[in-house]
Amino acid sequence: MRIEGVAAAAGYAEGPLFELDRPQGTYTGKATAAEERTSLETAIDKAVNRLVAMVGTADSDAAGILEFHIAMLEDDALSGPAFASIASGKAADAAWRQALGAEIAGYEASDQDYFRARATDLRDIRDQVLRALTEDDQRAAPAGAILYGADIAPTRFLQTDWSHGGGIALKAGSTASHVAMLARSRGVPMVVGLGEPFTGAAGMALLDAEHGNIVVAPSLPEIGAFRQAASAFAARQGKARTFLARPAATRAGTAVRVQVNIADPGDVDAIDIATCDGVGLMRTEFLFGKTLPDEETQYRGYRKVLEWAGGKPVTIRTVDAGGDKPVPGFTVEEGNPFLGLRGVRLSLARPDIFRVQIRALLRAAPHGNLKVMFPMIATSEEYERAAALFAEEQAALAARGIAQRMPPLGIMVEVPSVAIAPEAFAGVAFLSIGSNDLTQYVMAAARDNAAVAHLNSVRHPAVLRLIGAVAAFGRENAIPVSLCGDAGGDPASIPSLLEAGLRDLSVAPAQLAMAKAAISDVPV
Ligand code: PEP
Ligand code: MG
Repeated sequence: MRIEGVAAAAGYAEGPLFELDRPQGTYTGKATAAEERTSLETAIDKAVNRLVAMVGTADSDAAGILEFHIAMLEDDALSGPAFASIASGKAADAAWRQALGAEIAGYEASDQDYFRARATDLRDIRDQVLRALTEDDQRAAPAGAILYGADIAPTRFLQTDWSHGGGIALKAGSTASHVAMLARSRGVPMVVGLGEPFTGAAGMALLDAEHGNIVVAPSLPEIGAFRQAASAFAARQGKARTFLARPAATRAGTAVRVQVNIADPGDVDAIDIATCDGVGLMRTEFLFGKTLPDEETQYRGYRKVLEWAGGKPVTIRTVDAGGDKPVPGFTVEEGNPFLGLRGVRLSLARPDIFRVQIRALLRAAPHGNLKVMFPMIATSEEYERAAALFAEEQAALAARGIAQRMPPLGIMVEVPSVAIAPEAFAGVAFLSIGSNDLTQYVMAAARDNAAVAHLNSVRHPAVLRLIGAVAAFGRENAIPVSLCGDAGGDPASIPSLLEAGLRDLSVAPAQLAMAKAAISDVPV
C-alpha cells in the first residue's frame, strides 16, 4: 500500500513501523483534593526536571524548544485551570487533560500555520506531565524504526536515537512545525499529511521523504526500486558535499554567488563561513518572538553575525512581521494578513518599534560588511520613508557621539508591483527577490495552503518572466540582484533561475551543498 503525503525533511528510511500514539498508563486517583494537587505539582516538577536535564545535552535549536516547554510548564496561566478543577473535585489526570485540551483546541483553531504548529508543543507538554503522573515510561522504538502517528512531540523526537536511521511518518503534521525544523537540521527523513488511510498499518515500511510518500508492506519490486532511489539520493548527497568547499560555478564556468539564509544569530555556529559567500538574508522577525527585543539584544545579535562573517557581506532584513509570522504586541488581527499590514508597512506604521531596530543596525554596521533591506516594499515612497528614518537615527546617534555607520539600503522584490515596474527603484543599493512571496502573489496561491500548492510554482512562466525582467533591470542599471526565496536552494528550480539571468542566490544552510552541486550541472 502506497500513501502520498508531503515531504518535510528529505531522505529515505526503511524499517519497522512503530506507533507513536500508544495508550498512556492509568492514573490511580487520590483520596483528597489536596493530595490530587500535590500529585499534579510533583508530576509538573518531574517533567520540568527531565526537560532541564535534556537541555544540558542539547544543541542550540533543541535547547530553545526545550526551554520554551519549561517556560510553558512553569507558567501559572497554563496550570491554573487544572488546579481550579482539582479544587472542585476532579482527579489530577482528568483536570490536566481537560485544561490542556482547551488550550490545544484554541491553538488548533487558529487560521495561522505558526499557531497550529505550536499545538504539537502543547500536546507534548500535556503528555510529559501525564507520563510523570502515571510513570508509564513509553516503550522505546526499535533502532531504525519509522515512527508513525498523528503527530510527534519535539521532546519525543529529541529522546529518540536516530544514529541507526529511521524516520517519521505523520498522518497530520506541518512542514512549519518545530519537529520538521529539527528533522531537517538533523537529516531525519520525515513525511507529513499522510491522512487517515494510514491508521492501523503495521510491519515493514519504506519512507520516501524526498518525494513524500510511504509504502507499507512493500512487494519485492517496490523494495528494489526504493533501494535504488535511496542509494541515488545518498550518492547525490555525497557528491554534493564535495562541492561545499569550492566557489559555485556552472558547467560553462560562470561564477554564481551562493549565500545563506539565517533566522537567528545562533544559526551561524553550525555554518563554516568558508563554504558560503556570506549571508544573503537574515530574517529578524524570529528575534521578535514572544517579546519585542530591546536595542542592545538586537545589536549584540547583529554584531555576532557580522563578526562571524569577517569581511563577507551580511544582508539583514528589517522585521517582516505579519502574514504567517505574527508577533504578539506588534502585528494586528486581520482578515487577510498576507495582503495586510505586513513587513515594511507595519514597521512604518509603528516607527517607535522600527527606530529601535534601525539604531541597533546602524550601531552594528561598523563591525562588518552590513547591508540592510526592507521586506514587502510595494512603492518607492515606502523605501524613501524607511531610508529617511535611517538617516534621522544616524544623525541622532552621531550627535550623541555613538559609533555607527550607514549601510547600503536595498529592498526585497516580492510584491508584483516592484517586479513589474522596477524603474521606480533605480536609487536603491540592491534588489533581493523573495520568490516565496512573489510566487504566491503572482499566482494568487497562498504559500501555506496545501490545497493550492500545485499553483505555487516559481517555475510558472509568469513568475520566471518577472524574475528575468528584474535581473535585466539590475544589469542595465548596475544594481546587484539576488534571490533569497526557497527556490534558490531547490535543485529543480536552479536551472530556470540561472537561465532567467540570476547569478546570486541565498539558500538555507542545509541546502548549500545540493545547491552548489545543482549549479555545476547548469550549462549557462
Ligand atoms: C520570500 O518571500 O521569498 C522571502 C525570502 O521572505 P519570507 O519567506 O521570509 O517571506
Ligand atoms: Mg517574503
